[in-house]
Formats: sequence, C-alpha cells, structure tokens
Amino acid sequence: MLEGKTAIVTGASRGIGRAIAKKLAAQGAFVVINYNGSEEKARQAQKEIQEAGGAASVYPCDVADYGQCEKFIQDVIKEHGHLDILVNNAGITRDGLLMKMSEEDFDRVMDVNLKGAFNTIRFASRQMLKQRSGRIINMSSVSGVAGNAGQANYAASKAGLIGLTKAAARELASRGITVNAIAPGFIETDMTDALPEKVKEAATAQIPLGRFGKTEHVAAAAAFLASEEAAYITGQTLHVDGGMVM
Ligand code: NAP
Repeated sequence: MLEGKTAIVTGASRGIGRAIAKKLAAQGAFVVINYNGSEEKARQAQKEIQEAGGAASVYPCDVADYGQCEKFIQDVIKEHGHLDILVNNAGITRDGLLMKMSEEDFDRVMDVNLKGAFNTIRFASRQMLKQRSGRIINMSSVSGVAGNAGQANYAASKAGLIGLTKAAARELASRGITVNAIAPGFIETDMTDALPEKVKEAATAQIPLGRFGKTEHVAAAAAFLASEEAAYITGQTLHVDGGMVM
C-alpha cells in the first residue's frame, strides 16, 4: 500500500497514464497528474480519483522542455516535502517509413519520449537521493525491444529508455532507489485506436494471448514496481504484452 507517498505520473490525462494514476491513488498515494494539452481530461481524471476517495492534483508541463520539468518537479517537492514515485509515461508517436521521416518527427518523438524521462529523472533523483528511497518507472514499448517497421523514431526512443533505465538503476541503487521499465505490447488507448483496422488485425495475430491489453494490465505492473514488495527489483524491463516478446 502507498499511503503517505507522493507520486508523479507524466501523461496521465489519458490512456495508460490515467489508469496508473488511478491505481496508485487507489492504493493511497497522492498522485500528481501531469498533462500537456488535455487539461479537461486531466481534471476529469483528478475528479474520478477524488470521487473514489483518493487524492490528486493536476500539473501542466511539456516533459520535452528541460526548464519546465525543473520547475514542475521542484514545485511538487516544495508542496509535498518528498517525492517517492516517478512514472515517466508521457509518450507520442509520429510514425512513417525511415526514408520519408522528417527530422522534426524524429526529434519530437525523441524529445518527448526519451529526453522527457531524462528531464524528470534529472531533478527527481536529487530529492530521492536525499531521501535514500524512491521508485522510478519508465514506459518503454515492445517496439523498443523488438523494433517495428514505420516506427524508427519511436522504437529508438523506447529502446533508449531501456538503456536510460539501466544506467539510472546502477547510479541510484546504493541509495535504495529502484529504476525499472515496462514494455507494453498493444494496449487499447487513443494511441492504438488511431491504427488502421488492417494493422490492428495483423498485430492481434502476433499476440499469443490473442487480444489487445487493457490499460489496467499496465497499471497493475506499475503499481507492483512502485510497491515495497518490489524493493529488490531494479534495472529490469517488465513485458506486459500478451506474450509478444518471450
Ligand atoms: P495516449 O493515450 O496517446 O496518451 C498519451 C499521454 O501522454 C497523454 O496523457 C498526453 O497528454 C501525454 N503527453 C504527450 N505528450 C506530452 C508531453 N510533451 N508532455 C507531457 N505529457 C505528454 O497514449 P497511451 O497509449 O496511453 O501511451 C502511454 C505510454 O505508453 C506512452 O509512453 C506510449 O508510448 C506507451 N505505450 C503505449 C502502448 C499502447 O499500445 N497504447 C504500447 C506500448 C507503449 P496530453 O493529451 O495532455 O498532451
């Protein structure tokens, strides 16, 4: 249980991030719901948590922006006095074949998905080091583990997150801070809703469990990695993908 803990979940206005925010709040953590563009949805997530008896606030921040992240993390620490759980979930896709991919689409995906996690860890880890405790969870993807045609930018960012996770895990382990990644397969969210029906069918055929996952499946993994029970697990990638990678 997470009573008394403060958690930040980036990109928690929708999808997997929202499910993680709700799960951590249901276990007693105070959850800071970060969003970039979807203020109304972030407020809706906050309302749902509060109606269920949990505690949450909302905070706008583009995780790709180093300066915004510094202020974001410092504001949360100032308000709560501690920061116990950081979930780097914010992510975007800008798919396209490598030969046609624009520099802008490559850079933006790397900036949000990979640099965004660096930005928050950069400032959160300082506080966690002082506390001598903390949990950091980075949202990778099956694309980062196995690669995926049409996702050179996304796959590179998600593979990079696994490297970042391992380096941070080694740097922070001696102070009781664990750093792990989750690699979801295909999960039902706005991100996968946008895929053409044919792509969804082809994807389903590659999933041993024969169906897309739910956001709650990923939230359960995040809650476990954030828990006291996971104290001896660090530098790992937990695959929540219906068996796609094994
Ligand atoms: P989603 O439904 O598209 O939601 C994305 C979330 O990220 C939104 O809350 C969005 O907030 C936030 N976000 C985007 N850019 C941001 C930025 N610059 N700063 C802060 N927040 C930002 O995506 P999802 O499917 O839930 O995916 C969540 C994470 O899981 C991503 O990292 C994704 O790559 C990963 N993942 C998803 C799947 C899947 O099948 N769905 C599979 C593997 C990995 P705003 O709307 O407020 O901008």
